[in-house]
Amino acid sequence: MKDDATPLPLDHISVNALKVVKRLTEHGFEAYLVGGCVRDLLLGRSPKDFDVATDAHPEEVRDIFRNSRSIGRRFRIVHIRFGREIVEVATFRGPHKEIDEDSHSVGGMILDDNVYGTFEDDVFRRDFTMNALYYNIDSNEILDLVNGQDDIKAKRIRLIGPPDSRYREDPVRMLRATRFKAKLGFTIDEESGSLIREIGYLLQDIPPARIFEEVLKLFMSGYGVATFEAMLEYELFGWLFPATRRSMDSTPAEKLIHLALTSTDNRIANDKPVTLAFLFAALLWYPFVEDKKRLEEGGVTHVEASHEASANVIANQQLFTSIPRRFSGPMRDIWNLQFRLPTRHGRKPEILLSHKRFRAAYDFLLLREDSGENLDGLGKWWTDYQEADEATRDKLKHQPTGNKKNRKRRRRRRANKNETNTNTYPL
Ligand code: ATP
Ligand code: MG
Repeated sequence: MKDDATPLPLDHISVNALKVVKRLTEHGFEAYLVGGCVRDLLLGRSPKDFDVATDAHPEEVRDIFRNSRSIGRRFRIVHIRFGREIVEVATFRGPHKEIDEDSHSVGGMILDDNVYGTFEDDVFRRDFTMNALYYNIDSNEILDLVNGQDDIKAKRIRLIGPPDSRYREDPVRMLRATRFKAKLGFTIDEESGSLIREIGYLLQDIPPARIFEEVLKLFMSGYGVATFEAMLEYELFGWLFPATRRSMDSTPAEKLIHLALTSTDNRIANDKPVTLAFLFAALLWYPFVEDKKRLEEGGVTHVEASHEASANVIANQQLFTSIPRRFSGPMRDIWNLQFRLPTRHGRKPEILLSHKRFRAAYDFLLLREDSGENLDGLGKWWTDYQEADEATRDKLKHQPTGNKKNRKRRRRRRANKNETNTNTYPL
């Protein structure tokens, strides 16, 4: 076993994680800090969370910690809660191939991954070498069977074992590779890069609920822009958001998503709250607009087309990533408000201002303008309106936006359509 005496900065390790490891070893079990936390500590970054690997079985872990519960997702792990912090404890997992052929799909994907194993088994079932470092707190040693430390020094993302079968075994690893590339600035070698492009389609076999969990990590961890770019580089984005990927060829969708992710990354950097609803609104805006247009061209009214298009787009997207209702609801609100923001006469602006989704809808409007949509200065109008006093607000209501030429064109279009509504931006 290759040891390394690199001491990790103990003061950067969560006291709760240390407590968990100590308690487990006091009870005679092996226990290590493992995975992303060791990697991040070696890189001088502060870990997002702490994972523990042990030879204790979940029931044994639960017996030791009262503040724990078993999580029965793909892997059976135990969550130990300390206030707001959760330390994840996983039992060493073993290989499944020899034990049970049924645990793989025809394509080689792991379907069941709950077989316990030895320390060594656990090392080799992990994804990348940089994620397979085990830190022994007592001896202050890092156990590294896969030269992970060398790869970290060289900033290399390297799979443990043959890339082809390891990616086929769990295609989500391809997403993880792009995420780590973006977050850590590491490289994926040429060969693995081409392989990812070649077999990215395997992501279609992953249940939408699991993809959704990954999307959260990909876009909501503070490195969304870089991750999005890496996903485009390795041609993975289209397997998660096919309709969006298609509309990127003919609309400013890419620009809009880029801007939404930039704003998300900045907010995270400044500890401001972020919501996935806003990001999904940007991701699916152009597929929505296109579908709405198609319906309207087929004679469906604006209101119906809007309703139907959002339902269509969400239903199609759910085949790839689930979208929990708590996000799809607000996302639809943001979209619907886009068609209401242009109406600015009478009490309309006040009503809109008090809408609980006004702020998000207004931010989204600005984003659309920034991405190149010409909305005749509607964003600026709303900015001015919010900053104005009562009298100025009144004046603004009677002041059309846009330049003269556009105003003329708009008047003509309204006359043609025989519309009477003033101040309505035609979408
Ligand atoms: P971060 O928490 O910074 O996103 P991480 O590496 O800790 O990165 P987690 O999802 O917390 O990522 O996973 C913890 C560890 O579990 C990983 O470091 C890796 O060793 C292992 N692991 C996670 N997902 C997989 C996978 N799909 N295949 C193999 N091993 C995995
Ligand atoms: Mg982690």
